[in-house]
Amino acid sequence: MSETLLKADALCAGYGDFQALFSIDFEVAKKETVALVGANGAGKSTLFKTIVGLLPVRSGTLSLGGRDITSLPAHRLVGQGLALVPEGRRLFKGLTVEDNLRVALDHGRHVDKGETAWTLERLYDLFPILAERRRQSVEKLSGGQQQMVAIGRALMAQPKLLLCDEISLGLAPKVIGEIYEMIPKIRATGTAIVIVEQDVSLAQRCADRIYCMLEGRITLTGKSSEISREQVTEAYFGVKHAVD
Ligand code: ATP
Repeated sequence: MSETLLKADALCAGYGDFQALFSIDFEVAKKETVALVGANGAGKSTLFKTIVGLLPVRSGTLSLGGRDITSLPAHRLVGQGLALVPEGRRLFKGLTVEDNLRVALDHGRHVDKGETAWTLERLYDLFPILAERRRQSVEKLSGGQQQMVAIGRALMAQPKLLLCDEISLGLAPKVIGEIYEMIPKIRATGTAIVIVEQDVSLAQRCADRIYCMLEGRITLTGKSSEISREQVTEAYFGVKHAVD
């Protein structure tokens, strides 16, 4: 693997008395695309929330670009280059497309000299339909367009690592295809990406590496091209399933 960007070492987290993550080792290299798969309740969203500081780390460590970020609060982590596209999008209702996109501008990472920053113009090139809808309230948009706004808003924070939680949830297959066409374009700008995806084949197609979670633990990791469907099935369900 090339230079490590994010590293979680023996990470544990939970809610009250409930432990949701058990000693998670998780790594993302610079410019890498990683998929995180697992059944409902496996702990994928919890891992994301812990990485971005929305849930405290109970034990273990987190580092970004070699810097310890274990105890940094969420608002500081945005400035360090972590951006989350949350499950369910969580857009600011009542605001226009453009105002939703602008929200992240003041809180994002400071872009280094020589780097190309994400601007409204660049986002509208990526999602031309958002340029047409820029003055509309986000509630008026289709689910796919709202998802584009959620991704765009996260990009406006100038992330080094973009964490996308179930960006295909509830969307029609054609729209999912349109959203996923953006992934290679975003990664081409040098941003590392982690996607949580229910569709394992889709996850394997677009990611360099895969992690599979089951009941709060990582049960499988490896290069997408080297992992068989049978291995994923076993890691996903925890039992051997017949594969035709
Ligand atoms: P899904 O696809 O359903 O979102 P997931 O893999 O993202 O699944 P999580 O949402 O991380 O799973 O949930 C992991 C575990 O933590 C589950 O047992 C869930 O019930 C529990 N959990 C999640 N959020 C909370 C919460 N706010 N309070 C208590 N338990 C929670």
